[in-house]
Amino acid sequence: TLTVDTLTVWMDKFGNKIGENKQYLSDLDTPIGDGDHGFNMDRGMTAVKEKLSSKPENVTDGLKNIAMALISTVGGASGPLYGTAFLEMAKKSSSTTDLGELLDAALKGIEMRGGANPGDKTMVDVWDKLVPEVKDGTLTEDKITAAVEATKDMVAKKGRASYLGERSKGHIDPGSQSSGYLFEAMLETEG
Ligand code: ADP
Ligand code: MG
Ligand code: MG
Repeated sequence: TLTVDTLTVWMDKFGNKIGENKQYLSDLDTPIGDGDHGFNMDRGMTAVKEKLSSKPENVTDGLKNIAMALISTVGGASGPLYGTAFLEMAKKSSSTTDLGELLDAALKGIEMRGGANPGDKTMVDVWDKLVPEVKDGTLTEDKITAAVEATKDMVAKKGRASYLGERSKGHIDPGSQSSGYLFEAMLETEG
């Protein structure tokens, strides 16, 4: 269950992973995109850190603040999508703080906003595979790695990578990798 404290730790860990891997994320975005994903996300998580430096009154406010920070700083395709994810979690948090339920609402928001289906080589692939694992309490680091790696052989149907068609094959999707870090940070927060 999500509290202001676990949310803060989760975002701190996520922000650190993004910061440490911003070059790697942008390198993943270079052959199949425009090479900015890591820098976009790092800008966003720096803003999130700043926002959370004053403690939010409750989980809903915290999630809403994170969403606003991401929407206003990340940009690109991923900014509105991550923003929607946290906004949907904020909405859902008025009725439950169960992490599986919150992440499920986030996934539905991402799918609705971006129109991607599983198999389209987007962050939806990672969320779609891992949210049920969170709900069942069976998520592991290996499953996260496998979900991210699985995007490598997919042909992109959405986002910039889709312009490449078949040539998008053979590269990990950058948004799937950053989402993998979000789930890893979550695992480390719980454990
Ligand atoms: P941009 O492509 O605008 O430069 P980013 O590089 O920050 O934005 O983010 C790219 C990532 O966004 C992709 O790797 C993919 O995971 C995700 N993405 C792009 N379009 C969609 C979509 N329609 N639905 C879900 N995720 C998407
Ligand atoms: Mg990009
Ligand atoms: Mg861009």
